[in-house]
Amino acid sequence: MKLSSVKRESLRMQFGGCCAFCGSELPVRGWHAEFIGEDFVVGGVVAACTDCRISKGNATPEAFRALLAGQVERAKRHSANFRTALRFGLVCSVKTPVRFWFERYTAEQMQVAHHS
Ligand SMILES: [Zn+2]
Repeated sequence: MKLSSVKRESLRMQFGGCCAFCGSELPVRGWHAEFIGEDFVVGGVVAACTDCRISKGNATPEAFRALLAGQVERAKRHSANFRTALRFGLVCSVKTPVRFWFERYTAEQMQVAHHS
């Protein structure tokens, strides 16, 4: 998606300068404008980090969420390193719904607005 540099910068800052999916900080260069549709965000486009862009592919946000929900089980099945880290308590697995940063960010902003 081709955007002017001003639009690109405002898109990068839309959710506090962080990836709309995972919430990690976006570099000035090296992130992606992702069309996810107006059902999710005003304008329908969000900024995504390269890792989220690659793992999401062309999936819809809901399909991406379902993919992420199976991530720990896939890691247990396919990664001896992950199983070892689990066994020694170096990582822990939690059962929590996948919430994207753009959903958490908006909710947190609204809470801030409520308290002021
Ligand atoms: Zn990300």
